[in-house]
Amino acid sequence: MSFYRIYRPQVIEEIDNVAVREQLLSLLTKEKKQLPHAFLFTGPRGAGKTTAARIVAKLFNCTKPTKHGPCGKCDQCVTIADGRNLDVLEIDAASNRGIDEIRQLRDAINLSPSGAAYKFYIIDEVHMLTTEAFNALLKTLEEPPAHAVFVLATTDPQKVPATIKSRCVSISFHKASAVELAAALKRIVTLEKIPIDTAALTLLAASVDGSFRDAVKLLEQVSFHKGKINAEVVRNLISLSDESVITKFFESLAKKDARVLLSMIEDLVAQGKDIKIFLVDCLRRLQTELLNGNSDSKELIRRFTDAYALMKVSPIAELPLELVIVEYCSDVPAKAAGRAEGSESQGSIKKDSSTEFTPRPPSGLGMTEKPMSLGLLTLEKLTEHWKDFIEELKPFNHSMAGVLRSARPKEVSRGIVTIEAFYPFHRDKLSESKTKDVLIQVLKKLFGEKVKVEIVLGKK
Ligand SMILES: [Zn+2]
Repeated sequence: MSFYRIYRPQVIEEIDNVAVREQLLSLLTKEKKQLPHAFLFTGPRGAGKTTAARIVAKLFNCTKPTKHGPCGKCDQCVTIADGRNLDVLEIDAASNRGIDEIRQLRDAINLSPSGAAYKFYIIDEVHMLTTEAFNALLKTLEEPPAHAVFVLATTDPQKVPATIKSRCVSISFHKASAVELAAALKRIVTLEKIPIDTAALTLLAASVDGSFRDAVKLLEQVSFHKGKINAEVVRNLISLSDESVITKFFESLAKKDARVLLSMIEDLVAQGKDIKIFLVDCLRRLQTELLNGNSDSKELIRRFTDAYALMKVSPIAELPLELVIVEYCSDVPAKAAGRAEGSESQGSIKKDSSTEFTPRPPSGLGMTEKPMSLGLLTLEKLTEHWKDFIEELKPFNHSMAGVLRSARPKEVSRGIVTIEAFYPFHRDKLSESKTKDVLIQVLKKLFGEKVKVEIVLGKK
């Protein structure tokens, strides 16, 4: 049996996710009758949702609860942990869109539980249910029998209908922090007597993107190593990238040398290295640069992060990174003489023939930059370049760019740009002085004019 199964937390106190543990502990102060009968667990994969769902099932059905919650030892607790408890049903909505299961659930739900106090339904990836299945589920949630409890789990809560959400108590599972991961790993290290040092554990925890499941799997992988496990061993075993490779990679990026970069990727793949881990190492390097005040790294962070997200769904893992490299290297370099090679970022303004456009120097709030030559600011110009304006804002504030997408320029007159937002909270967000400052700066950068910005509420 794998570490992950053996060392799955079995009782509330073993849950390493602090926020979740505390919310579940707070349930202990309630009488069973007062407990909610529907929960919605949201959060990324590997964050421990299913594990926590089983612990909640024990909370309801444990026959020998202690003041800390379920005992983890009675017949109910043990069979729930093994996934063979007749009254705890786990449905995976991702593998079958659920309509038959939900129908069966509806038919069977009124029957009394076979051995336990409560019938417990865990529906994983609930957002994958068909509309029909959701409707069936909703009916059940509206009038559940007193003995039924639901835990709906999802990685994508936005796809869960509001009618379902409103009937659930929501608990959100964030990605595990380094401290939480370390705690989870230490528990196993102690019990398995694995000779691993702290630096190695830290490195392990840092390379799994906040997933308990991945962290434990990696630990199991390195535990097969004979002898003491230090950071060096971990680095080799889990194919972490060599510092010198990363340095060379960034040097080639600065030169925009796609040929070298692509052949480096090819080598890494041929050596069986995990490209995702390589990309995370690159991002870490960029993060250090960003924190050291190098705002040029922003553009690459954005592109690499996009590539990372795509890697998870790409049939060829390295392809999204290769694409980013090709795109990045084919960007027109800045004309500004004397600039360090490669420090230029992509001009996000579409190079359409109707506007004169000089590739711009690195993005950033540097106000010493020469204005772009989009010409005098008029309402027509701003409307025409609204999308470019939003693109330009993105590096500063992604959510602001989102808000602006549903707003529009209304008037440009006497040095005042009026922007129309269509929701009061959009107007309020854009009216914040920090936000306005950025809007003003980006307008200046694009059109070379210092203007004032007014936000008004428009009618759709
Ligand atoms: Zn028990």
